[in-house]
Amino acid sequence: MASLLEVSDLTVNYNSRGSQLKALNSVTLSVKSEEFLAVVGESGCGKTTLGLSIIGLLPPGSAWFSSGSIAYKGVDLASLRPKEMRNYRGSEIAMIFQEPLTSLNPLRTVGFQLVEAIKLRKSRRHKADVEAGARSRPLPGRPSMPSFGRARIPDDVAEEVEAMLSLVRIADAKDVVSRYPFELSGGMRQRAMIAMALAQQPALLIADEPTTALDVTTQAQVLKLMKEIKDKLGTTIILVTHDLAVASQVADRVIVMYAGRIVEDAGVFELFSKPLHPYTQGLLSCIPKGDRKGSELSPIPGSLPDLRFDVNACRFQPRCKYAMKVCSERVPPLFEVDEGHKVACFLHGE
Ligand code: SF4
Repeated sequence: MASLLEVSDLTVNYNSRGSQLKALNSVTLSVKSEEFLAVVGESGCGKTTLGLSIIGLLPPGSAWFSSGSIAYKGVDLASLRPKEMRNYRGSEIAMIFQEPLTSLNPLRTVGFQLVEAIKLRKSRRHKADVEAGARSRPLPGRPSMPSFGRARIPDDVAEEVEAMLSLVRIADAKDVVSRYPFELSGGMRQRAMIAMALAQQPALLIADEPTTALDVTTQAQVLKLMKEIKDKLGTTIILVTHDLAVASQVADRVIVMYAGRIVEDAGVFELFSKPLHPYTQGLLSCIPKGDRKGSELSPIPGSLPDLRFDVNACRFQPRCKYAMKVCSERVPPLFEVDEGHKVACFLHGE
């Protein structure tokens, strides 16, 4: 699979109550086309900042790139002006959030919002085709849309509305299109938001804690849906989550972040069968295991470091039971210990 996204040496600074902090610190990763990547870590580790950086939604004025690049299909998104970034947001890269009500318009029905999203995509594509001198054509690999039949909107748009709702497993499309977001259950709203994001046919979908607010059953359904979307549409997905158990259910590859840096990067099977970083091992020991009923969970001692102070040392050192002298003298680089399995820990390199 070809690489769709290459993040190189990305550092993002925030202004926080008069101080500067590094929310991302020299982050380098690549995402292949049609890959399902999970980015995992505690609150404040930089995983959401990574997603917002890619889609160009960092809060203006209080966050900025201080180094690095984000190459998407060969274009450095980090160097684009806000107006140029609008050509990528939605149509190429979409993002969904934990609480759909923050993204959906509460004053418009689900159907209206879907129609607008589809029309926007069509007009953007038409404009691009006119500029390229090409005839309008469907994207390769996208599913054909069944008939829906609505009088007030163009047939092809109505067909897509039904297809989108059916894709996200909303069975009663005719009822749901006329409802407002607040009239839907949490799971249904999340599905509607996924449909909205997919209506623009993005190549990359970033999902930030999309299941955190849902009950366990609905969470499993939404995760299954995301996996189906990846398989059916070929959408590349980056799932941002604090929950390794969630990542294990859907991801092809998992990146573990700690204090703004990547500490481990591995295929999902390798990460769970052979976790190498002491932080990853700690996260795994916090997951309840069905076969060990009554056994105690082992929380990681200590707390996240203060990111206002950059140190030339392993950030995990104050919490690490394996810490050595070198750990307080240098930042461990990512060592590739097996093919595709990297870890930033001196236990595994130098
Ligand atoms: Fe622990 Fe040292 Fe590895 Fe950091 S580099 S995780 S302190 S052993």
